[in-house]
Amino acid sequence: MRILIVEDELKMASYLRKGLTEASYTVDIADNGRDGLFLALHENFDLVVLDVMLPELNGFEVLRRLRVQKQTPVLLLTARDTIDDKVAGLELGADDYLSKPFAYAEFLARIRSLLRRAPRGTRDVLTIADLEVDLIRRRVRRGETRIDLTAQEFALLQLLAERQGEVLTRTFITSQIWDMNFDSDTNVVDVAVKRVRAKIDNSFDKKLLHTVRGMGYVLEDRS
Ligand code: CA
Repeated sequence: MRILIVEDELKMASYLRKGLTEASYTVDIADNGRDGLFLALHENFDLVVLDVMLPELNGFEVLRRLRVQKQTPVLLLTARDTIDDKVAGLELGADDYLSKPFAYAEFLARIRSLLRRAPRGTRDVLTIADLEVDLIRRRVRRGETRIDLTAQEFALLQLLAERQGEVLTRTFITSQIWDMNFDSDTNVVDVAVKRVRAKIDNSFDKKLLHTVRGMGYVLEDRS
């Protein structure tokens, strides 16, 4: 997932970039409205974080011109928590709005919520509760904890994550992950699931990878 931050306060921009990078997002920064608009129009971002108070072009003007051509989700940031600013931003097509100062946790929650609204099939990061499966970088996290998986474990987790909430039979998993000619001893699925579960679930309170007796496995948030 690629995010553009348009913010002239460099300290704020680099703070946000650091956090988002740690959360596995790819981040670009523009420090004025004109450059921000150019990048947002000419490159493909999944989300734009747009400050209102900007040199060259202010955030409202950037948003107005962006919306003529593109519907990239926009999270507006402003120093002022006034109803007028909020209404103006939303009328111009902002998807969400956050007033400075804000807590980083809230910022990240808003980002995730906006990205979840993106249409299925265009997503590079699959999320189940606090589990994140980054299909581009092939990285997995639970909350702030990075989880290392082998290529085969990753393939299994990706399959389960893409069909989260769906019970997958051992036979189906075998056919998707292993060679069709593989001697289909379904025990091999159980062993692989056990290894993935040990990494993504065992040290966390909330369990995500469930066994459905007599049927197979399902990855879902049951809370
Ligand atoms: Ca600013």
